[in-house]
Amino acid sequence: MNSPNRILRDLVPEGSRVAAGVVALLIIVATVLLLPVAEQPLGEVKPFLPMFATTVVITEYLTAYMLYTHFRSSRMAYLAALASASVFVAIMAAVQVLIFPGVFSETGLLGAGAQSAVWIWTFWHGGYPFFVLLALLLLTPAVARRRASVLSGWAHAELLVATGAAITLATLAVADGGQLPPLIDGAAYTRLIHSPAAPVVLGINVLALLACLAITRLRDLLSAWLAVALLASLADVALTLVAGARYSAGWYAARCLSMVSSSVVLGVLVWQTSNLYRQLARAHEALAERAVRDALTGAHNRGHFIDQFPRDLRRASRERLPLAVLMVDIDYFKAYNDMYGHQKGDECLRAVAHAMQRVLRRPGDYLARYGGEEFVVVLPNTDTSGALHVAGAVREAVAALAIVGAQAADRNVTISIGIATFNPDFDTFDADVMVRRADDALYRAKREGRDRAELFDSKRPDLITELRDP
Ligand code: GH3
Ligand code: MG
Ligand code: MG
Repeated sequence: MNSPNRILRDLVPEGSRVAAGVVALLIIVATVLLLPVAEQPLGEVKPFLPMFATTVVITEYLTAYMLYTHFRSSRMAYLAALASASVFVAIMAAVQVLIFPGVFSETGLLGAGAQSAVWIWTFWHGGYPFFVLLALLLLTPAVARRRASVLSGWAHAELLVATGAAITLATLAVADGGQLPPLIDGAAYTRLIHSPAAPVVLGINVLALLACLAITRLRDLLSAWLAVALLASLADVALTLVAGARYSAGWYAARCLSMVSSSVVLGVLVWQTSNLYRQLARAHEALAERAVRDALTGAHNRGHFIDQFPRDLRRASRERLPLAVLMVDIDYFKAYNDMYGHQKGDECLRAVAHAMQRVLRRPGDYLARYGGEEFVVVLPNTDTSGALHVAGAVREAVAALAIVGAQAADRNVTISIGIATFNPDFDTFDADVMVRRADDALYRAKREGRDRAELFDSKRPDLITELRDP
């Protein structure tokens, strides 16, 4: 079985964790600089809270969705469990924007009271690290080795619990003006700071961050950015508590950190998804290329020729351009195999194919392995004299390899070529006829003693003209 860390590293591959380190450092520096001035009142900016809460709702919802889809493809339960923390925050932030005083109504919607928003904040900031902690437990060795169905059950239970908890706690904080003890007077929440809620929320945040560092050891990008999110959440809580009142410097800064906290994990998931897309596109290209190639020689395969050649002919006919096809066969190749063995035979085939390929310079020209030791060369927009020229160059290229043949020590491996040309003025564009003509010309070359090129004369189909060596 793959270890969870292994799967995480595959899922979010090695990449620079420097950016995460830089953001973490910025969060620490900003928090340290802001703590002394956190209580500074800045006045109420009306659009700020709805903007901030809406941002959090959207990013947390997307984070949860992406984590869950990653779980579906990797079957890594930890990711689904982690989604529960985002689901919890998304619900809490949505309720927060609805009930915050002065956003939709002076006292907030859903019958919220003066204490509702501060309790929503408390549950939100305690709940997020709590559900991350529960998810992190899935990565601990004792839990990770359990059966996949058990882990998946845990993750789905956590998702249900997070959703249920968010709805229940929001109801507690909001229904009938809020049934919970008071934590805020006007804009000042000094009571919150002195209530047991403050150390509990702060403590869970510290614990979750430490657990993330200890359990994941930040070995993968997702873990590194999750640690940044937890650090931002902790800084958010610290600044909020020190600020002591709404609309102070610390209060605004803390909400900005909330946005950082909820967007960094989404950022890494989006980055990773676009990375996967790139890999997929590359793999698809490579696969499509391999599907039309012959594995031994690297030339195009028969399938490509069957597909492509009728199209080449149709185009030639439509554009009233000539086209030539060369059928190439290695001479006495059976004897070569018998004498040197199939491995040497393969090497020879490869060398001959590469030599022929090097001769083809025009973009539309291509070489395909027709079968065994037979190749076909297609030359669009090439008339008879052009085809003769290429046939000569191909034979020279093979001769230049100087592969000692099976006949005698002084006889190198040679090829025979049959040429058929398509003339748009009096030929029909039938691919089979073209291949048969090239084949006829090839057999003629074989009969005439091999190591030569023969041309099928399309003007006089009954006549096959022997060519002198170029
Ligand atoms: P000719 O000069 O008339 O073409 O004689 P030939 O021996 O080349 O012709 P023939 O068609 O009888 O033999 C073709 C041989 O090519 C048969 C087989 O041993 C060899 N061959 C076909 N495909 C491969 C291959 O992929 N690798 C190797 N090593 N040999 C192959
Ligand atoms: Mg042969
Ligand atoms: Mg053959």
